[in-house]
Amino acid sequence: MRTTVGWQAEGVTTLRRATIPRRGLRPDDLAVRVDYCGVCHSDLHAVRSHRDATAPMLVPGHEFSGVVTEVGSEVDGFAVGDPVAVGNIVDSCGVCAMCLAGQENFCREFPTLTYGGTDRRDGSTTLGAYAREYLVRDRFAFHLPGGLDPAGGAPLLCAGITVWEPLRALGVGPGTRVAVVGLGGLGHLAVKLSVALGAETAVVSRSRDKAADAHRLGAHEFLVSADEAEMDAARDRFDVVIDTISAPHDLEPYLRLVALDGTLSQVGYLGPVTVQTTDLLIGRKKLGSAGSGGRAGTATLLDFCARHHITADIEILPSARVNEALDRLERNDVRYRFVLDLSDLD
Ligand code: NAP
Ligand code: ZN
Repeated sequence: MRTTVGWQAEGVTTLRRATIPRRGLRPDDLAVRVDYCGVCHSDLHAVRSHRDATAPMLVPGHEFSGVVTEVGSEVDGFAVGDPVAVGNIVDSCGVCAMCLAGQENFCREFPTLTYGGTDRRDGSTTLGAYAREYLVRDRFAFHLPGGLDPAGGAPLLCAGITVWEPLRALGVGPGTRVAVVGLGGLGHLAVKLSVALGAETAVVSRSRDKAADAHRLGAHEFLVSADEAEMDAARDRFDVVIDTISAPHDLEPYLRLVALDGTLSQVGYLGPVTVQTTDLLIGRKKLGSAGSGGRAGTATLLDFCARHHITADIEILPSARVNEALDRLERNDVRYRFVLDLSDLD
């Protein structure tokens, strides 16, 4: 057993610096020095719901980049010194139909999550990358392409891939009309990726404050969700609507935006929703969801982002300011992703 230093949940509002246990290096493991880790809204959900004193230790962090510091005896695709990135899946069964289809994120035996998951080999609870070191099975680490900034690139591994897979699966490209609902971490990357794929792209947000940013990110149109006239005029217009709203909400206003045979992909809030069948019936509309990505899709995304110079718009904070980052994320005070610099843990 080895240890590292990281940030562990204490109560529901704060993380505190702590010594974090890590497994010993396995033959197919990489030890990664974590340099940058994005602050995902899922981390906030996890910390705020970590109420039970008997709950397992929680160390958030599932989109990170860093450098390989050690490789196991069976590793041949990585070497010490390689820049790498890791997302929110760190293992899968490898043999089910989903894994064989390259969708390890949907593994029938349940993919091992980067934190809060169950390690397949020793049964321990996984602890995330708000820490200086992470041990990861080689299959679930990705070479960070040259030219991709490691700090701005880290959020591609959760926020980016989560919106990339539905955009790709739904055939987004030139001639497609896409609306992205909620301009946050996931949303702003959805806009950049949709625009780069050649789609006509709109942003739907709660206030006009983000209009200038939306256009700077490449969006062609900006709609305010509270503006009924504007939303009415956009009815049945979008082939694909990517809903990244982080709170429970009524889907009806966003289903109304979907075009004939189009799809609303709800990737933000994950929980029970109520849908009027007639909101789907009229226009033969589809409701879907997605999350994270497979290994092949993630590698494709990183390559696409390197070629199109796409990284997240970030505010870097030393990891000691992680609680401030969570509080500001909760207040929607981030444009558009906090990234923790873990070097202050040395
Ligand atoms: P974020 O940066 O906080 O962005 C969420 C955006 O949703 C906000 O910027 C805001 O956009 C909008 N919003 C927030 N509260 C709202 C409300 N009450 N009503 C309407 N709109 C609201 O969060 P994120 O990191 O992008 O994550 C978004 C959600 O995706 C979270 O729930 C997270 O847990 C989830 N997630 C899912 C997956 C997956 O695998 N499917 C992966 C990562 C994250 P405007 O200010 O523009 O309105
Ligand atoms: Zn995430």
